Amino acid sequence: MVVESIPPAVGSIYALLAFAALVWLWHSGRFTRRRAVPFLIISVLLGFLVFAPVFPYQLQGLVLRDAALLGAPLPMALIGTLAFIVLAFVFGRIICGQICPAGAVQEVMHLVPVKKYSSAESRVPVAVRAGIFVVFLAAGLGLGISVLGLLGLADFFNLTVASVSFFVFLGIVLLSAVVYRPFCRYICPYGTLLAPAASRGVYRLRRTDACINCRKCERACPTGAASPDHRLGECYLCGRCTDACPVEGALVYGRGR
Ligand code: SF4
Ligand code: SF4
Repeated sequence: MVVESIPPAVGSIYALLAFAALVWLWHSGRFTRRRAVPFLIISVLLGFLVFAPVFPYQLQGLVLRDAALLGAPLPMALIGTLAFIVLAFVFGRIICGQICPAGAVQEVMHLVPVKKYSSAESRVPVAVRAGIFVVFLAAGLGLGISVLGLLGLADFFNLTVASVSFFVFLGIVLLSAVVYRPFCRYICPYGTLLAPAASRGVYRLRRTDACINCRKCERACPTGAASPDHRLGECYLCGRCTDACPVEGALVYGRGR
């Protein structure tokens, strides 16, 4: 469904502007899940309209060294991809939270009111994703195979319903109604790079002395990242914990640990 008349650069410009707006919302303490909804909707729409800014597919294009797939010169795409990893180190996984269309479509799907399967305490998703990352690199660098293409990431957003791959990613999206972000948590190669950066993030969610240790944030978190001993690599800055916290100022986004 990509509209050829809309330049893909629209996706990149949106990513930068949305990133700045979300950093401001988090930093000023104004971020709520309700305020995140417009970002999620626009991100999903841009995924379908211009197939951008779909960060994992950009990484796939770089691994294949395919400028046509990237829609941009390789050096420019490399700089953009690395820049958002640096931004994750400074501000956390804001792009995953609300900007990447692949993440946003799963976040929206998880709003469907059905019983949820929780894997919050499990290390399995990270281990599986690390294994898939090795396959992703080996297949791309060694054999020129697009793993994310086979999984239907592009076919889904291009609405290429005639391909089997379309239904693979459609299945992942449908699964995300029950499982929180299965693509991000079990598969995404870009997420594999962002997670360690975010786990050492300069700005992060942290508890203050006002915390009464009620653990409502931990129960609300779908990834286990709200636990005090978690390093926040799997925090998608979704806002469930801050929305659930009953004490103002007990859970804040700011510098330090
Ligand atoms: S983990 Fe990957 S797919 Fe998920 S939001 Fe982040 S970049 Fe996008
Ligand atoms: S609920 Fe969990 S994933 Fe969401 S912002 Fe809080 S710590 Fe991060």
